Amino acid sequence: MTQLRVGSGFDIHAFGPGDSLMLGGVRVPHGRGVLAHSDGDVLLHALVDALLGAAGLGDIGLHFPDSDSQWKNADSRRFVTATLEMLTKRGLRVVNADLTLLAQEPKMAAYRQQIRDAVAALLGVTADRVNLKATTPESLGALGRGEGLAAMATVLLESA
Ligand code: MG
Repeated sequence: MTQLRVGSGFDIHAFGPGDSLMLGGVRVPHGRGVLAHSDGDVLLHALVDALLGAAGLGDIGLHFPDSDSQWKNADSRRFVTATLEMLTKRGLRVVNADLTLLAQEPKMAAYRQQIRDAVAALLGVTADRVNLKATTPESLGALGRGEGLAAMATVLLESA
């Protein structure tokens, strides 16, 4: 019998020096970068936490600690790939992923399809199994003041 497992993830990073953001493995030009040990890809970090959560495997900090120099400036796609290997070993595969970016800036419309395609390719699923939503914080709080950006992810896994 197919077993279904759901997981959720959240991540947030402050903006810092730089001229672009990594979002879903896609470089998006922006007036600022993010402060992070890795490349600070909030979408992929939220996604990894959702994948790990669905599998009952803890969280991103447990598997890829920022105290470990091997993850310094790491391409966050490596976190996703390593996580998928853990899931595959346990006979789990991705049914679908639903991602939400929460940021005052940048506007995502021009990058939405590219990011969706990139995340789907990374997960090894068709693009119709990945959804990307973007919402603004309506100028409220730290995110609304443009001090950083956040992302949420929900994934469904099934036993292979
Ligand atoms: Mg993060």
